[in-house]
Amino acid sequence: MTDRLLQCVEARTDDLVALTADLIRFPTVNPPGEAYRPCAEFIAARLKKRGFGVELIRGEGTPGDNDRYPRVNVVARFDGRSPGPTVHFNSHIDVVEAGEGWTVDPFAGVVKDGRVYGRGACDMKGGLAASIIAVEAFMQAYPDFPGAIEISGTVDEESGGFGGVAHLAGKGYFSKPKVDHVIIPEPLNKDRICLGHRGVWWAEIETLGEIAHGSMPFLGDNAVRHMGAVLAAFEADLFPALDRKQTSMPVVPEGARRSTMNINSIHGGQTEDFRPGLPSPNVPDSCRLTIDRRFLLEEKLDEVKREVIDILDRLKRERTKFDYRIRDVMEVQPTMTERDAPVVKAVAEGIMQVFDREPDYVISPGTYDQKHVARIGHLFDCIAYGPGILDLAHRPDEWVGIDDMVQSAKVMAIGLNVLLRSGRS
Ligand SMILES: [Zn+2]
Repeated sequence: MTDRLLQCVEARTDDLVALTADLIRFPTVNPPGEAYRPCAEFIAARLKKRGFGVELIRGEGTPGDNDRYPRVNVVARFDGRSPGPTVHFNSHIDVVEAGEGWTVDPFAGVVKDGRVYGRGACDMKGGLAASIIAVEAFMQAYPDFPGAIEISGTVDEESGGFGGVAHLAGKGYFSKPKVDHVIIPEPLNKDRICLGHRGVWWAEIETLGEIAHGSMPFLGDNAVRHMGAVLAAFEADLFPALDRKQTSMPVVPEGARRSTMNINSIHGGQTEDFRPGLPSPNVPDSCRLTIDRRFLLEEKLDEVKREVIDILDRLKRERTKFDYRIRDVMEVQPTMTERDAPVVKAVAEGIMQVFDREPDYVISPGTYDQKHVARIGHLFDCIAYGPGILDLAHRPDEWVGIDDMVQSAKVMAIGLNVLLRSGRS
């Protein structure tokens, strides 16, 4: 019944490969935010030719934005012949640096053995290209469709999304009534639907001491030793408690199906530089620790903070001269779209038709731009679905499979058909 639609996708296979390679050739490396404008303009020019209204929106004043590295986003919209819901495909155009270990040029868009290689091939220029092809095929198959389709290419996802989706969400681009359903084609494997992600709390803990000559440490108070007591208490009490917290969220990989905390960094004392300088001869009066706590739908953020603060307060009671400061660095609430939400059911229908099986429903261990759609846009009918193998992201010789892209473009096209035409054939 959707045969014609699937044929329209399949007929565009060469175009899909070429588009992916073209997108890879823009070295949109973040940081610092290279080539954002030409990449956004390229997407805008393509969609304009197909009748989309396009806007380039710069994240003025957002982190990293300046005239050398402007944070330029593109939003394209096509209104159908009659009123109806709006489906929005959002992809980030930024990529992480290439790094070492490549056997092909990471920004050449090399095509070989049924794959497209390059930095961003799977995360997520392949997904962006697949969504554009899905939309163009759908528009050809059903030119009279109701509702509207939007495609955006946004910046800075890899550094928090502040100049990209967060900026646009603040301007109403990810809210009703402008948009009803959002699909983010992140590389989460072609037969899986990602419903959301765990929460994040980053904080900096500082222990305080008193400076003195290193030869007479008893005259001062050593902040690094105080931090040692903090780490010992975390090892004894906090880490085992986090390990015991299981979640009903279907997080992948399974090791992340509980609470976790990483110690991101620790710095204490003045300089430790022996080459070419000299180390500090002092008792350190400050030691700073950054923690990255990932939490679950079953947890409340204030309880997550309380666990850490209770340990610090206990040390303050029990340990002579112990004092501390704590500062929030970042907070993201966990989010999980309902399984019976329209966008989930529509994409699940596509997966069943293309792969003849039920999708896997997963939750991402880390966050992505869905957080801004939910928190700023208050739009909860949002998922991540796209081609590409998650484990290949950010690695050397990153690639995306051509068959995978074609199949997931078919899934997206069927999803569009269900959402806009209620599954009419
Ligand atoms: Zn990504």
